[in-house]
Amino acid sequence: MRPGQHLASVLLIVVSLAFVSIFIGSTGQLSLYWYLYIIPIFVAAVTYDLIGSLVVGIVSAGALAWWFYSGVEAGLITNSDVLGHEVVLGTAIFIGAGLVLGFISGKQKKQQAQLERLSVHDRLTGLYNYSYFVDRLDEEIKRSKRYETPLALIMIDIDHFKEFNDEFGHEKGNRFLKDLAGIIKKKVRDIDIVARYGGEEFAVLLPNINKEAKEAAERIRKAVEAAEFEGDIEQPVVKKTISAGIAVYPIDAGNDTELVVKADDALYKAKESGRNMVCD
Ligand code: GH3
Ligand code: MG
Ligand code: MG
Repeated sequence: MRPGQHLASVLLIVVSLAFVSIFIGSTGQLSLYWYLYIIPIFVAAVTYDLIGSLVVGIVSAGALAWWFYSGVEAGLITNSDVLGHEVVLGTAIFIGAGLVLGFISGKQKKQQAQLERLSVHDRLTGLYNYSYFVDRLDEEIKRSKRYETPLALIMIDIDHFKEFNDEFGHEKGNRFLKDLAGIIKKKVRDIDIVARYGGEEFAVLLPNINKEAKEAAERIRKAVEAAEFEGDIEQPVVKKTISAGIAVYPIDAGNDTELVVKADDALYKAKESGRNMVCD
């Protein structure tokens, strides 16, 4: 939550607490309006989860008890036996509501965050998924156009990956994809967007990068070439290579689709020229 949102939430809780208290004090109708304290508890649960709503629940219970005892002392409450039971019930309800609402809200937020994470990430590699990549590509092209900065795209494809699967099985193939994702991420900047474009194809978007993208792709290619991947008992260490194609906006392409096509063409060139290389 941003600081401005914090301030707004705290204000809303304090104002609603004060409003209910003033309302009860001015009408003198404790037994009719005590349940209105559920409003600040609800606001706190939605914004601050368990701890926040429990604190506001306890404050509300305290306010209710205070109204009751000061009413009895001032002689304004005459049916204190009946109302006393209501107040005990009310304080229990407020603290209970603080606990339950806060717990539910916290759980729901966690689930939502997890869903959001899953909707943009590839489950196997942890990289961004294809649909997130497409959205970001569109966004980054717009940004590049506006600020007149370049945007590079590297398309990566594993060389002869089918052979790897055939020899070591799909599970080991998946393990390979995970390890490769780690290598690619390590070799680019934090601001670069690394995505799993397809089954064994990866895309890296490099904002504000021109032809130096070739150096980045070379770094990745060399790191993969040097890496030792997990095989099986008979062949515990496996060596693999990748091919990569590069295209840069606006030098090679005028829009997002063209950029992908051009990077793909360059990748094809790398495959045709013998694999384990970077082409632009
Ligand atoms: P090339 O050098 O021409 O790229 O050869 P290749 O064998 O890598 O290319 P091809 O397109 O013939 O095969 C890609 C293979 O990638 C086929 C498929 O079994 C494998 N693959 C795609 N997605 C996954 C995946 O999620 N897990 C595993 N284990 N393998 C995958
Ligand atoms: Mg492929
Ligand atoms: Mg391949």
